Amino acid sequence: MKKAMLAALAALFALTAPSAAEEAAMPADQPKWSIAIHGGAGTLDPDRMTPERRAAYEAALQEALDAGAKVLASGGSAMEAVKAAIIPMENSPLFNAGKGAVFTWEGRNELDASIMDGRDRSAGAVTGVTTIKNPILLADAVRTESEHVFLMGEGAEQFAATQGIETAPPEYFATEARREALERMKAEALSALDVDTKFGTVGAVALDMEGNLAAGTSTGGMTGKRWGRIGDAPVIGAGTYADNRSCAVSATGWGEYFIRVGVAQEICTRLRISSVEGKPDRGWSVHYPGVENWTTDDYAEFDAQMTADAVMAEVKQLGGDGGVILVTPEGHALFSFNTTGMYRGRADSSGMREVAIFGGDVEAGASNTPDH
Ligand code: ASP
Repeated sequence: MKKAMLAALAALFALTAPSAAEEAAMPADQPKWSIAIHGGAGTLDPDRMTPERRAAYEAALQEALDAGAKVLASGGSAMEAVKAAIIPMENSPLFNAGKGAVFTWEGRNELDASIMDGRDRSAGAVTGVTTIKNPILLADAVRTESEHVFLMGEGAEQFAATQGIETAPPEYFATEARREALERMKAEALSALDVDTKFGTVGAVALDMEGNLAAGTSTGGMTGKRWGRIGDAPVIGAGTYADNRSCAVSATGWGEYFIRVGVAQEICTRLRISSVEGKPDRGWSVHYPGVENWTTDDYAEFDAQMTADAVMAEVKQLGGDGGVILVTPEGHALFSFNTTGMYRGRADSSGMREVAIFGGDVEAGASNTPDH
């Protein structure tokens, strides 16, 4: 893995070499920063995606990644970077968050978001809001300006008004493609998975130069949701978690399973416990020759990838699918998904900057776990 990783990183470096200005801003001893983003995971078939559509998604991912990376490269906080990356995806009709959110059974767009600061594990979340332009900003206001963690519906909107959070009329969030998906679902008695084909939730995780981690997630949920259904995205511990001692995670997928597994916190907890124990070989050398020569940093990356894969395998075992992005305190930005693709991107202070959609688009550090 290490070899493949290094080769791919070298190739990526050649493709996405930093500008002279960026290079000047990062001498070798510069503290590290790192960011990963996602725009949903799902059944993505390269043959069924037109080049135009692919280019549009890649451009939107690139814009979000650049916005977050810019904050971090200029010394901004992980929290600010997470918001900066998520906002353009909430504003883009391509993703199931903010504008372009899926429709509920009743034909409304009900938005969820959550955010968490790994420094002190302060967190904020909202569910079922219908007029908040950027729900991630409201989630952050809940974190910083209220005594609470989780607000819902009308109450959350009343709180937003006290904070001067920007609103938009419900029509702003509605798109034709999402309305058609709901109509098709009803007409053909399909499930959300049939009509959505992918989970379009957006998220970002970041490590800043001060060593702080943050995570955020924003979504419209799943097409045709009803009875006040809430998925994992706004649930701290399921769709979002950040703890400076272990990692920052944002998830996308079939929310019910992510809640049951407590995916985001489960990954962080396992990593926190394994880092307390150090990085023992754990018998990996049997399966991965040469592992005994790895540095502590290699172990940390491998451990994080294996841990994320193991937790995603549990999701799969229960019948769910989707993916996660994570960033570790060492600055490893990783993906794990058990779907055929995941809209994703990552960048760090070493000059790595990439976006990808399908499984295998980027070999290194992007693990796809279909066989678990
Ligand atoms: N996880 C979201 C939910 O279940 C859906 C998604 O990821 O797109 O609401």
